[in-house]
Amino acid sequence: MTDNRIDGSAEKGYWFAEVVEVEQLTPHMVRVTFGGDDVAEYTSIGVPDECITIFFARDGEDRPPAMTEVDGTWWYHEVEPMPEGRNYTVRRFDTDTGLLVIDFVAHEGGVAATWALNASVGQVVLWTRPRSWYNIPDSAEWQLLVADMTGLPALGRIVEELPAGAKAHAIVEVLERGDIQQFETAGDVTYDWRIGSGNGDCASVLDAAVREYVLPEGEGYVWFAAEAASSRIVRKYIRKEVGYPVRQFEIIGYWRVNSEQWLEKYKKYQEEALAVYNGALEAGRSETEASEEFDALLERVGL
Ligand SMILES: Cc1cc2nc3c(=O)[nH]c(=O)nc-3n(C[C@H](O)[C@H](O)[C@H](O)COP(=O)(O)OP(=O)(O)OC[C@H]3O[C@@H](n4cnc5c(N)ncnc54)[C@H](O)[C@@H]3O)c2cc1C
Repeated sequence: MTDNRIDGSAEKGYWFAEVVEVEQLTPHMVRVTFGGDDVAEYTSIGVPDECITIFFARDGEDRPPAMTEVDGTWWYHEVEPMPEGRNYTVRRFDTDTGLLVIDFVAHEGGVAATWALNASVGQVVLWTRPRSWYNIPDSAEWQLLVADMTGLPALGRIVEELPAGAKAHAIVEVLERGDIQQFETAGDVTYDWRIGSGNGDCASVLDAAVREYVLPEGEGYVWFAAEAASSRIVRKYIRKEVGYPVRQFEIIGYWRVNSEQWLEKYKKYQEEALAVYNGALEAGRSETEASEEFDALLERVGL
């Protein structure tokens, strides 16, 4: 195993990680286990949708470059070209073995998805500090968990970490029957597997499935992780039609159909959209509310 550590790396905002095992988990999901001295020092934030941004080696290099710190922020400051980075869920981190597991949806096309298709032992990536969104209020009596294949790793971890008797209903969209996964849980969980739609193959049925689901009585919490356009429809439904306050849901776009074209157009509105987002935060609104204002602006310009 290569020693990836750089002096003082425990305090750094990034970790180098080496692939130690690759497993075809289901037909469209590749499970990659990472190890190495840096990974052994990883500190989990202990929230089930814990997400890290993974950076991949640039063409012709065997690992991504290290990050540097400027004004307290670890990043690729003035590194050109910047390595490609994508968000992934920490499916599992074992402090005893120092191994960290990520489940990648693997397909041709994207940088990360293609990397996963070809992942092999010994490859080195780098990742940044973890973040999370799932935050169920103590007063919630049930939860609705909705995901496509990209959200399935986080959904699996949420289900596995449910406290005894916690009530949850999961709506999951997978590409084929073989992509269905089973999770051990102390919770009381029901499943609605939707097979053969969404996931970049064709239109998602998740928004319709959420609408079909009759929300139980009592205070609920909705967590959603799938394609960005369907997340926008579901957020509007939960916010405007169901009328939930922001603390009762977390609805996140995990990826975007035709992201290249979207990004090209987004560049034109990025400054304005970020000003709206930061303005909302400065005015004391929550991160969710600021995201809604950001999203409303993008929708107005057809993004
Ligand atoms: C918080 C968070 C956690 C995430 N956790 C995971 C995880 O654990 N596992 C996981 O697999 N993904 C996860 N994702 C999603 C992952 O970051 C995206 O799918 C990412 O876009 C993949 O990057 P890429 O380079 O392969 O494709 P991109 O460069 O983003 O896209 C290239 C092209 O591929 C297509 N494409 C992108 N993603 C998909 C897809 N999933 N299915 C079909 N077509 C696609 C797009 O249409 C696009 O045109 C997470 C995202 C977030 C925000």
